[in-house]
Amino acid sequence: MTANKVAVVTGGARGIGLAAVDIFLSKGYDVVVVDMSYAVANDLAQARGGVLPIECDVSDPDAVSAMAETIARQYGRVDALVNNAGIASLHPIQETDFHTWKKIMSVNLDGAFLVTQALTPLMKEVAGAIVNVASIAGLRASTLRTAYGTSKAAVIHLTKQQAMELGAYGIRANCVAPGPVETELLAKLVEAAPEMKASYLETIPLNRFGQEKEIAEVIAFLCSSEAGYVTGQTIAVDGGFQAAGVGLT
Ligand code: NAD
Repeated sequence: MTANKVAVVTGGARGIGLAAVDIFLSKGYDVVVVDMSYAVANDLAQARGGVLPIECDVSDPDAVSAMAETIARQYGRVDALVNNAGIASLHPIQETDFHTWKKIMSVNLDGAFLVTQALTPLMKEVAGAIVNVASIAGLRASTLRTAYGTSKAAVIHLTKQQAMELGAYGIRANCVAPGPVETELLAKLVEAAPEMKASYLETIPLNRFGQEKEIAEVIAFLCSSEAGYVTGQTIAVDGGFQAAGVGLT
């Protein structure tokens, strides 16, 4: 087993995941970036030392097993697992086709389950910490987020299962529920539904979107020993949106 701490970040090639990768690197972790965009993850590895890129679709059980074998061979431990890979679509029930529903569930929910299951043996070795990236859409219903919100609500429950089932090994599991954060994912959604931006800004007490780093800092805290007695929790990182409790387009 390597002496260095190891963090695994799914969807770490860009956005919130990439911001988490940078924080783990700054704290001296070796970081494994698990992403479908291998080229981007590989560029990232070339540009920063201490990064191992692994091409993997988190919703594919065979690819996830192969990824876990690589990490076991290379490092033999996982101290921090960030289940961050996710996709979104903006549709209400009547307009959500079944293919889209299944795709969103398979990446956002199955992916977090499969990766957790595959890496648990390596986390047991070192009493690792898990952080799942859900969304405020998983905490409250909203008109356009039928599949996305439901998948993220399930991720919030998965967090409780992880905390309960894996606590005996010293493994902690927590969740962050970001509000809107300025990433490519959000840019695509706003392009598809431009009225969303104004509606969000009106309803966020801090009156701005979040920055990737602001989510990543909370992820890193939850993985750290400073959060050693925190498990099974979901923290909204949303500029007060959830607390304000008003409507969302
Ligand atoms: P992003 O689209 O910028 O980046 C997502 C990364 O995940 C990409 O590198 C992509 O290649 C990778 N990915 C996608 N599907 C994958 C798969 N099947 N297997 C492996 N990798 C895959 O997204 P982001 O905005 O940084 O979002 C990250 C997480 O935060 C997601 O789970 C998202 O739902 C959640 N979130 C984002 C926002 C927001 O406003 N951006 C708000 C709430 C929650």
